[in-house]
Amino acid sequence: MHVTKMKGTLDFFDDSALKYQFLEDKANMVCHRFGFNKMITPIFEATELFTRGVGEGSDIVNKEMYTFLDKGERSITLRPEGTAGIVRSFIENKLYANDRVPKKLWYLENMFRYERPQSGRYREFLQFGCEAFGSDDPMLDAELISIPVLLFEMLGLKKVKVRINSLGDVDTRENYKKALMEYFAPHIKDLCEDCQARFSKNPLRILDCKVDKDNPILKNAPKILDYLNTESQAHFDAVLKYLEALDIDYEVDSRVIRGLDYYTHAVFEIEAEIEGFGSQNVICAGGRYDNLVGDLEGPDTKAVGFAIGLERLMLALEKENIAIPDNNYLDVYLIYLGEEAKEKAFAINHMLRIMGFKSDIDYNNRTIKANFKQAERLNASFAIIIGEDELKNNYLTVRNMQTKEEEQVKNKDLTSYLDAKLSQEEDSCSCDDCNHDEEHCKHDECHCNKCE
Ligand code: ATP
Ligand code: MG
Repeated sequence: MHVTKMKGTLDFFDDSALKYQFLEDKANMVCHRFGFNKMITPIFEATELFTRGVGEGSDIVNKEMYTFLDKGERSITLRPEGTAGIVRSFIENKLYANDRVPKKLWYLENMFRYERPQSGRYREFLQFGCEAFGSDDPMLDAELISIPVLLFEMLGLKKVKVRINSLGDVDTRENYKKALMEYFAPHIKDLCEDCQARFSKNPLRILDCKVDKDNPILKNAPKILDYLNTESQAHFDAVLKYLEALDIDYEVDSRVIRGLDYYTHAVFEIEAEIEGFGSQNVICAGGRYDNLVGDLEGPDTKAVGFAIGLERLMLALEKENIAIPDNNYLDVYLIYLGEEAKEKAFAINHMLRIMGFKSDIDYNNRTIKANFKQAERLNASFAIIIGEDELKNNYLTVRNMQTKEEEQVKNKDLTSYLDAKLSQEEDSCSCDDCNHDEEHCKHDECHCNKCE
């Protein structure tokens, strides 16, 4: 039987795995700067966590969860999003009783939703997200928006748009819900079946409908921003003010409603404005969720977060032709002639790796000519050749693969020789931190492997 991958899943290898690793490293770097610590939670949780946390009225809970009974008859769900699990863990491990407030956490994990697979929409997908607990300061909302904005900027992704809205506090939501129900009541038959169900459960959801999104009934609906009470308005105005202080462009858009039940106050989406990207163009979404910790029986704790869809981000980078630094290179490739030389080459290869070089060896007993080709294919800076004469006289032939020049180097001088040559070759970029971060790299012509 020929087994293939399940519908809506992806394999990552070679370039795509490199991209994944690169983005994880970038996420790690950005989170470090902002003071977020990594959090790892289980891939499955009790189903109840999501029905209560994400909300009974959400598409995720209604249609998209991978839920099953395990052999002990417990109802288990593969996590469809990251926040509920983090909040569960935050409460269970009493992370609120920590003197580091706000508690800042990040994750990069796979999520599962039973959706119709298409470009940018999968059944297993990756999210990088941040959550900050313990402050309702609007400055923190602006900070959370600034994280993906900075990440995209660092990646060179310029065509993005921040769309922001406020869902207000509970009072605001209740008033607005009433107004929406009055407005939609006479039109309900003209909306899709899902919207008819949403009408009584949570009419706000209707505004997030993908089927009816261009329907004038939706477009002319009352706007939540006209219903914000004084505190909600003040909070929202302050978030916008702090965004302006950071020079972050945004567009207030009352259609940003978000598909999850737990949001309050500021909610936002970041869209890739790239031609041909298709309808799955929201690469990041988030907002404030001041009631979720309390709803899950934790102490009243305000919180704000976001999640980036990594596959969509990769797609955006691809469409914009933004290359990821290629780490498919070798410092050294070992070539040998005969069994005795092979043993020695194998040992030198290992020693070089211990010393921090990226080194590899011929595993196929190739001819010299074939090995030079192989060294080129592997993008090696140097080839080391060990033959009879080298063995007898205790030296190594080191061939510069670019210039084809060969030099005889004594065994004991090998690492210092390579160190000197390689740092020359790399033009020795001293910005350890730059990690292809063009903005922070002060070297005009930085050719190091990191920046290249
Ligand atoms: P959409 O409206 O596109 O269904 P969503 O509102 O369900 O998105 P969130 O739950 O807010 O999305 O998830 C945050 C981000 O995760 C999205 O903006 C998107 O980039 C990504 N994402 C969500 N669902 C998927 C999926 N099925 N496949 C790939 N990425 C996804
Ligand atoms: Mg969705």
